[in-house]
Amino acid sequence: MPLIRPDLDTLPAYVPGRAIPGAIKLASNEVPLPPSPRVLAAIAEAATAGNRYPDLGVTSLTARLAETLKVTPERIAVGCGSVSLCQQLVQITCLRPADEVVFAWRSFEAYPIVTQIGGAVIRSVPLDADFRHDLDTMAAAVGPDTRLVFVCSPNNPTGTAVTRTELERLLAGVGPDVLVALDEAYHEYVTDPDVVDGMDLVDAHPNLVVLRTFSKAYRLAGLRVGYAIGSAETAEALRKVCSPFSVNHVAQAAAIAALDDAEGLLADCRIAITERVRVRDALLAAGYTVPPTQSNFVWLALGARTTAFAAHCLEHKVVVRPFAPDGVRVTVSTPEENDAFLTAARTFVL
Ligand SMILES: *Cc1c(COP(=O)(O)O)cnc(C)c1O
Repeated sequence: MPLIRPDLDTLPAYVPGRAIPGAIKLASNEVPLPPSPRVLAAIAEAATAGNRYPDLGVTSLTARLAETLKVTPERIAVGCGSVSLCQQLVQITCLRPADEVVFAWRSFEAYPIVTQIGGAVIRSVPLDADFRHDLDTMAAAVGPDTRLVFVCSPNNPTGTAVTRTELERLLAGVGPDVLVALDEAYHEYVTDPDVVDGMDLVDAHPNLVVLRTFSKAYRLAGLRVGYAIGSAETAEALRKVCSPFSVNHVAQAAAIAALDDAEGLLADCRIAITERVRVRDALLAAGYTVPPTQSNFVWLALGARTTAFAAHCLEHKVVVRPFAPDGVRVTVSTPEENDAFLTAARTFVL
């Protein structure tokens, strides 16, 4: 028998949202609409060059992102989804067994997985009573062995967001040699003006790196493109550890077309932004505990009732995402799909 790392036996598996034929899928925070016609045309065109290797340096997409974000291309690293960039962040910061990664919990389920794969130590800091990041406690948890801090805003799965003041205080507290990764996968859904926009801080803080993705508002979850913006040194290191050719040709073309179509795609996000208020209000009226959300999902703090609630929704042909024993995350979708979910929620005995 080959000697495989025994610690992998304890690795928590990434749990994808369940796909059940005929059921409404509210488990993975995707947009329910397909890619726009313009993006589909770019995908079809790019597929004709499927026999060729993709552009290793992701040059066109990087240039396009640099122009859009008003940074130099050297400061951008594109990855096979931002999940891959999370793993690369651990790879570029952690080498010694004592190296630590700090993140809030509960937060994005990829953080503990990529930390453990990277052989680093997990330092998780509980969310506060309002299901928000407790950034002061996180800053206090940063010690001499801490190399990386993940901050998820809006936070998956609770939907709460970090303010600019809070993030600035964290950055002031951790010291310049600790890399802070601000994961803004749901940035396009933020409407609260107090919520941090990483791009406003990334120039002044070389130890800040911002993660964004084409998987959510840009409707390309199946094609796997995410990107990081930071210092030129951080971006270069991320590119060094990137698995070669992992951002494929069709994905690169689709992402450029999605940027061309940004106006329409972002306008479509307004549906979820309106609906999230209606869905939350209905849930509050039904007696659920639901924090305000800045994303395209809501969090139901169901505690011990989490698994029972998910099973009840499944009986109503609605797939939600349980995180036992804390709560359930539900994607905000079209009014019709949200109504189907609310019908299920109203008939559950709390
Ligand atoms: C969905 C999500 C991502 C995006 O992951 P991709 O790999 O780009 O699809 C990243 N971070 C968080 C917190 C997410 O919820």
